[in-house]
Amino acid sequence: MTSQLSHFIDGQWRAGTSGRFAPVFNPATGEQTGEVPLANGAEVDAAVTAAANAFPAWAATPPLRRARILNRFLHIAEERTDVLARVITSEHGKVWSDARGEVQRGLEVVEFATAAPSLLKGDFSENVGTNVDSYAIRQPLGVVAGITPFNFPAMVPMWMFPVALAAGNCFILKPSERDPSAARLIADWLTEAGLPAGVFSVVHGDKEAVDALLLHKTVQAISFVGSTPIARYIYETAARTGKRCQALGGAKNHMVIMPDADLDQAVDALMGAAFGSAGERCMAVSVAVPVGETTANALVDKLLPRVRALKIGPGIDPDSDMGPLVTAQHRDKVHGYIDQGVAEGAQLLVDGRNFKMQGYERGFFTGATVFDHVTPGMRIYQEEIFGPVLSITRAPDYETAARLVNEHEFGNGTAIFTRDGDTAREFASKIQVGMIGINVPIPVPMAFHSFGGWKASLFGDHHMHGSEGIRFYTRLKTITSRWPTGIRAGAEFVMPVMK
Ligand code: NAD
Repeated sequence: MTSQLSHFIDGQWRAGTSGRFAPVFNPATGEQTGEVPLANGAEVDAAVTAAANAFPAWAATPPLRRARILNRFLHIAEERTDVLARVITSEHGKVWSDARGEVQRGLEVVEFATAAPSLLKGDFSENVGTNVDSYAIRQPLGVVAGITPFNFPAMVPMWMFPVALAAGNCFILKPSERDPSAARLIADWLTEAGLPAGVFSVVHGDKEAVDALLLHKTVQAISFVGSTPIARYIYETAARTGKRCQALGGAKNHMVIMPDADLDQAVDALMGAAFGSAGERCMAVSVAVPVGETTANALVDKLLPRVRALKIGPGIDPDSDMGPLVTAQHRDKVHGYIDQGVAEGAQLLVDGRNFKMQGYERGFFTGATVFDHVTPGMRIYQEEIFGPVLSITRAPDYETAARLVNEHEFGNGTAIFTRDGDTAREFASKIQVGMIGINVPIPVPMAFHSFGGWKASLFGDHHMHGSEGIRFYTRLKTITSRWPTGIRAGAEFVMPVMK
């Protein structure tokens, strides 16, 4: 039996009226488990209108009271992490422990946003001129929207809405149509926490719903996370319609392994970073760059037995290290890249294409894949595969390795494994990437720092959450005030200067 999802508009669940639906699958079994409605312009407009109506009261609610609602949501979601994680595993496919980790990392942003009264404090300058004071405050934007990818159906929405709501905005979430059920739990739990109707809405859909949000005059800002071509489109369209926009795109993250690195530590790190969540992470390491032939050969020797021993299985099995890919189409696309790598002349060391999961023959499984001698001219090096496919690109020296990272189109995350402080410092200082790990493979910043890449991995000026998130979801207003003192200055026609 399949379940039918609904939109959440003005505090109510509403069945889709567009007549268009998309199937939702359990990637481990390959069975269709649900159907998600794809909103049309009228449904998007209803959500925007409800949000606009709710905005004045929500913006006027003291930040401390807004924070208390988020705090209640935090406790509800913490207690029911397993429920949310189960839903994520059943629609995304990632293993249970990873789904729990995703929820935890998302809830850390909620925790951050509960400091709203402190985060929204302004600046005050007394006597900028005689008896003249100046102060700066940050005010909410109004109705804002978030469009999110399939790979973190709970965490990525939580990068956005806690900060947006804490700052006094009303938020419309357009989740991925491939794993939309996490949004249902989030909406229910926010309501249970006491969030007023219209402050948070969920509109399911595809390009039609996204375009309706992008073109709606009332929507003030768009947060987007997804692939680079769509991120670029979102950013360009939002700019044309005068909206604030942060659009995070794809990635091709390199891990540089220096000859002095602790190789066992590096291999452990590489296993998790390349094959965790079946490589469907924007911070996954998809290119290993060992420096020097000795390092490269030793890395391959240590890595291959580990890759071959990887336990692949359904996400609900606690013994699985890696689950299936999200859809059959995505698995076929990943296999297409492996075919391409072979055709381009890369050396295929481990081939995941023929992997079959006993008892789950219709699931969207693939095996882990490793290519060696991948060169920058190859498509498998240039493009994001977003699957469990690791490329090894050998570099003769540090300079070549750093150049590879810097010259790549994407700049989301990167890591260096070394014991040498000078090399690590040079890497952190000079590399053209937004998030850097030193002996840390997946350097996802904590909630009180900000998440975001450079180059084709982010379009816009603000990263997500942390202080950048607060800036993104607020507008700065500066007030200069003088109270009547009984002294009349008379009309002045020169630029105001300090007297
Ligand atoms: P996607 O770009 O296909 O979809 C993202 C969102 O855009 C979804 O909500 C989808 O419905 C919508 N969308 C899809 N096509 C559209 C179109 N033509 N017009 C308007 N909207 C459209 O991405 P995905 O496959 O869901 O997610 C994987 C991608 O997300 C990868 O590229 C990954 O690197 C990226 N990602 C990036 C980050 C980051 O922080 N940089 C984080 C997570 C995922």
